[in-house]
Amino acid sequence: IERTFSIIKPDATKRNLTGKINSIIEGAGLRIVAQKRIRMTREQAETFYAVHKERPFFGELVDFMISEPVVVQVLEGENAIAKYREAMGATNPANAAPGTIRKEHALSVGENSVHGSDAPETAAIEIAQFFAGNEIV
Ligand code: ATP
Ligand code: MG
Repeated sequence: IERTFSIIKPDATKRNLTGKINSIIEGAGLRIVAQKRIRMTREQAETFYAVHKERPFFGELVDFMISEPVVVQVLEGENAIAKYREAMGATNPANAAPGTIRKEHALSVGENSVHGSDAPETAAIEIAQFFAGNEIV
């Protein structure tokens, strides 16, 4: 059993898509074991996406992530990291497979509705940034 970290991003919360996205998550066999709606601070967003800080889109990405509330989640299941990446679809919705969250809901490569961890090490770091151990049940 593995855990991954998910964010339902501002473009999706703004369009009231939390339930539709959670339905795809649960349909993929993942269990939502922690969830909260928060407004990210600029500092939290910069820390979260620090790996991208030299990229040309970094400023735009941080502004986007703090523009509306987000829903942060911990998802649990067999191969949760890979399973969620598959359910999310490609970063650019134009390249995402039918039925994936990004194909069905994302607006663009930047406003792409969801985040999911890409490896066990990053999943652990990202979960710890937003959840205390006793919030995950
Ligand atoms: P995430 O890390 O959010 O799950 P990802 O792993 O599919 O997405 P990354 O390459 O890690 O994609 O990029 C992180 C995020 O930065 C993307 O989800 C997207 O919101 C934004 N992003 C990536 N590439 C671009 C781009 N070319 N222009 C604008 N924003 C981008
Ligand atoms: Mg990524």
